[in-house]
Amino acid sequence: MSQSNFKFQAPTGMKDILPEEQTYFDEIANVAKKYAQFYNFLKIDTPILEDYQLFVKGTGEITDIVEKQMYVLKTKGDEYLALRPEFTPGFVRAYFENGMVAWPHPVKLYSFGPVFRYEKPQAGRYRQFHQLNFESFGSQRPIVDIEIIWVLYNILKDLKISDLAVQVNSIGDSQCRPYYKKVLIRYLKSQERNLCQTCKKRLKINPLRILDCKEERCQQVISKAPQILDHLCEECKEHFKKVLEHLDDLDIPYILNPYLVRGLDYYTKTVFEIISQTGPEGRQNALAGGGRYDDLLKLIGKKDIPACGAAMGIERVINLMKEKGIKAPETPAPQVFIAQLGDKAKTQTLKLLEGLRKSNILTEAQLSKDSLTNQLKIANKLNVKFAVIIGEEEVLNKSVIIRDMQTGTQTSASFEKAIEKLKQKIKGQKKN
Ligand code: AMP
Repeated sequence: MSQSNFKFQAPTGMKDILPEEQTYFDEIANVAKKYAQFYNFLKIDTPILEDYQLFVKGTGEITDIVEKQMYVLKTKGDEYLALRPEFTPGFVRAYFENGMVAWPHPVKLYSFGPVFRYEKPQAGRYRQFHQLNFESFGSQRPIVDIEIIWVLYNILKDLKISDLAVQVNSIGDSQCRPYYKKVLIRYLKSQERNLCQTCKKRLKINPLRILDCKEERCQQVISKAPQILDHLCEECKEHFKKVLEHLDDLDIPYILNPYLVRGLDYYTKTVFEIISQTGPEGRQNALAGGGRYDDLLKLIGKKDIPACGAAMGIERVINLMKEKGIKAPETPAPQVFIAQLGDKAKTQTLKLLEGLRKSNILTEAQLSKDSLTNQLKIANKLNVKFAVIIGEEEVLNKSVIIRDMQTGTQTSASFEKAIEKLKQKIKGQKKN
């Protein structure tokens, strides 16, 4: 197929994850798994598609995610499904549907996978991206908020990202937020003419969102706005005080950001984002974000169960690792190369490869190549210690030749003894 006739492209804002990038994904998934096991978060996978109403109800009808960014499709059976724009509502549905209410609490779950948001693609903002998601159901204690922050913070540190800070705020709950909203709206209305067009609309439907508008003119207004922290009820104040104390005790660098509201309807009390402090200026630098959502489970499952959770954006983390020159571990190099000549030798090679795999000896072969000289050149390039050569004669004799690639010396071994011999030689090399 000629290159020029090929017209298909990955959809806008979506990309292939090529082998080089997979090493980063694997590394992050491995580190995440290690932490999840240690801190007792159990892995679940939920469907990528969910009932569209789950997000309308859960994430919130007037959030950007649901209003503007959700991929919704109608099935042949006339159902409306949405590609998940975030994990949390799916976790909540799975929690109720699978009877986790009866499990010992807190129920701590995690997942790793793609999410979809139809937004304007730019650096660090894609339409399909991946999140690592942690949630904890069943406790209102501030230490639960901290455990989620702690796990994500340490995963990022383990990935060698060292300049982290947590931006943190409390957005109150159903007792104190309505009152704060009133105070805020009164102030914002007095400043309406100074707000950007989007915020003028937000004033009617979601005034809290104005607080994290990045427009210069709105920033001016926001800097003089009443702050939620001055309007928290006793319970929320106490909760937030404990969160900050724990952050201090654990030496987690944090920035109190009274304008952090995050985009979703369901948050109550603590909201936070983990950022890289030396990340590129003016770019999306939130690596992870989350918060407490004590009312969501009641909304979806009619049960009063507090919860807290957060998601890390994998592509953002990988971009930052690359910018900082942090490499994912390289795939280990093969120790042995098998060069073969003829059809029968190719099947012998497959048998030998399987034996070596079981013995944990990393081996490479190139079955689609015929010339022995070319294959040995590849072995040289790969810098393997030993090459195994199986030619027509060796097939007849049920034997192999083992070549020491450094000295060029060759010895013969029966096919049965080949693996044992290789093991001895590799051991001998390690001793030298
Ligand atoms: P959110 O679910 O919006 O709180 O996002 C959690 C994390 O996912 C963010 O901190 C980002 O790291 C990442 N993220 C959010 N939106 C995108 C996007 N469109 N493209 C890439 N990463 C994203």
